[in-house]
Order: sequence, then C-alpha cells, then structure tokens
Amino acid sequence: MNKADSDRLEDALEQLGLENSASRNEADIVVLNTCVVRQSAEDKAVGTLTSLKPYKEANPDKVIALMGCMVGPNSDNLKKQFPYVDVFMRPQEYDPLLDLLSERLQMDVSGCIGPLNAPADIATFVPIIHGCDKFCSFCIIPYRRGREKSRTIPDISNEVTRLVNRGVKEITLLGQNVDSYGHDLPGNTNLADLLSELNSIDSLNRIRFLTSHPNDMDDRIIKAVSNLEKVCENINLPFQAGDDEILKSMRRGYTNQEYRNLIDKIRSMVPNISLSTDLIVGFCNETDDQFQETLKLIEDIKFDKVHSASYSTRKGTIADRKMIDNVPASIKKERLDLINSTQEKISTSINNRLVGTKTEILIEGKKDDKWYGRNRNDKIVFINGNDDVDLGATLNVQIKKSSPWYLVGSIN
Ligand code: SF4
Repeated sequence: MNKADSDRLEDALEQLGLENSASRNEADIVVLNTCVVRQSAEDKAVGTLTSLKPYKEANPDKVIALMGCMVGPNSDNLKKQFPYVDVFMRPQEYDPLLDLLSERLQMDVSGCIGPLNAPADIATFVPIIHGCDKFCSFCIIPYRRGREKSRTIPDISNEVTRLVNRGVKEITLLGQNVDSYGHDLPGNTNLADLLSELNSIDSLNRIRFLTSHPNDMDDRIIKAVSNLEKVCENINLPFQAGDDEILKSMRRGYTNQEYRNLIDKIRSMVPNISLSTDLIVGFCNETDDQFQETLKLIEDIKFDKVHSASYSTRKGTIADRKMIDNVPASIKKERLDLINSTQEKISTSINNRLVGTKTEILIEGKKDDKWYGRNRNDKIVFINGNDDVDLGATLNVQIKKSSPWYLVGSIN
C-alpha cells in the first residue's frame, strides 16, 4: 500500500517537473512515507525524521513532508514533536504537499494525482479500498488508516485503463481488507463486480488482489477467481493463529474449523489455486498446545507461502490495553523457527513437483543478469540462459529446477 502511495506521489511530482534526487542532502523536497504497523517501524521512522533536522536547519527552503500511517487523524502531537516538518499527510492524502508546491512553484497542481503517460512498471499496485473496520486486537491499522472507504468502480477502471496505456500488464488491487470492497458503495457492490469490470479491459493480462479476510471472502469472489480469465489463481488468506481461544482474543471472528472449511471450498471451486497466509506466533497467553494448532494448520493445509511473525505489542491496540505480552522472546523464537522450517519443507515439496511442467510467466525484469517473471500462481521463475526476452512478454517456460522460494526454467 505504501509503495503504491509513493508511486502515485512520485508521478504527481514528476508531472510538476520535479526530478528524483539521489541524495536527501541535495533534494529540495524530502518525503518520508511511513509504515507503523510494528513499533520497530515507527521507531525507525522517528529516527529518520530526526536525522533530517540538520538538513532543514542548513537549508530552511527545503520542504520536509511526513506521510503515511504515522500521521493519524490528529497530527497536533507530531507538529509539536517535529516543528521543522512542513507538511503532514495521512495515507493517500497528497494535497497538503501539492498545495504547498503550487504556491512555491506558482503552478496549477489540480488533477496531477493519477497515472502519467510515461512508461510504467509491467506489474503495479492499485489501492481500491482504504482503512479497515475489523479492529483485530493486535493491529494498529484501523486507528491509523481509518474506517473502510471504497473507491468507485469507474474511478478505478479509469485509472487501470490509463496504466494499461502506459504499458502495465498486471495489476494487484490493494486493500487492508480487500474482500470488503464495495460494502460502502450503493447497490450491493462486491469485489467480484470490480474484477469483472477490469477483466474486460483490453491489453490488461492479469489481475490479483491483496489482502483477504476469511470472513469477507464470499462465493462471488471465489467464483470470480474461478471464472474470469485474467484473475490469477492466487489468494493470500491470513489465518493468524490456529487455536480458537487465541483467535477469539485476537478478535478474528472465525474458528479453526471455519477457516479449514473455507480453504476446502476455495480448493474445490478453484482446483489450481495457490494459497499463502499470514500468521503470528507467541500472541498473549499462547500455550505450547495452542501453538501446536497453528503448526498443525500449516502441516495440513500446505500453503505455497507463509508470512510469519512473532507477536510484539503495538501501542494503542486492544491487546496493548487489555492483555499482557507474556510469552518469553526465546519461546517465540523457537515457535517461529519451527513454523519457518516446517514451511520450508512444504514449499520445497510443492515446488519440486513443478519440475518438468510448463508454466506461463509474465517477464517483469532482470536480476543478476537473469530475466525473471511470475506465473499466475505468483511463483517467481528465473529464465535459464541468456535468451533474448522482452520486458512484459508472456512466455511458456519449462521448469528445470526448484527451490522453496523460486523456480528456474527455460524457454525451449
Ligand atoms: S483485518 Fe487486517 S488490517 Fe484490519 S484490523 Fe485485522 S489485521 Fe488489521
């Protein structure tokens, strides 16, 4: 989400004739886009912001902007703490900086947020719903990003069409809770309606969406993944914990069995689906037996990818106010290591089975002189050899080698 916000602002600043600077010392404008989902991220943002102070003192004309989740609904405290910051902008709120620049540059900045005509990345992100209404007990997002607010289908469709005209082939629709897209729009609008609309855009090859919530992933969305040819067979569905008591104290709103049933349903409706998940180990009061339920879920479901984290208290959340972070760090680390080593074996075995098969990849770039792309299941595939390949090409590749994290294939 932050990457998408930064890209949009960068486009707008380029439209005003500004250029990227390699050094914060030389830059006329420094924008710090912050993520505060974890305390360590906020600490890092504060450190970086503090380090900008001498630059501002040396050059008072320099504009310093603070953007993103660190800027909550009320920025009074931040203004006191960082008086040398010129503008504070909430996520997706670009106007304070653009207005300031319009004064300084004597330019009309209206309408400059939105895609340009310059070439863009082959695969890009498009935010479709901001904020979250769920209030999971460990999470700061609803307090910082606010309540859910969906963009309209025509607005998103226009943006995607313009992106496609700039060369974009794949889009990932973004929302903290992307499955609840449209509930605040008229006419029972559903994510499936948006997917269907975007599916009809010529020259767009692929559509993905992130991040799902088990309680909002309904049959219409699963059917859209199954029926719409541009929607990729790949879903990220966080379960966070395997034990029902822990799920309840996390305020996730589903049980272990309900989650398993949903996975069964998705797999029966979209047999070639790839699944990833997010989970937390060592949440408040998590016993070893309760952790085993998380481990068992990993072993039973066999996700393609798992994003795991050990719990740490986030100030201002429900868990911070009402619970105690009482699982020792050493136990959290043991649990995390066990999850990661178990998942590594599972990913190894899943990817190993792909050796010898053919898969379609969209070429996204080059790394260490090797072209790479992703297949519809979101697996990264590197091309073996030095074949002449075009950026943005869709190619059929035969998989020759695998690892838990990527595949290697050849075109011939
Ligand atoms: S659904 Fe996701 S973003 Fe919303 S509160 Fe829960 S963890 Fe945070």
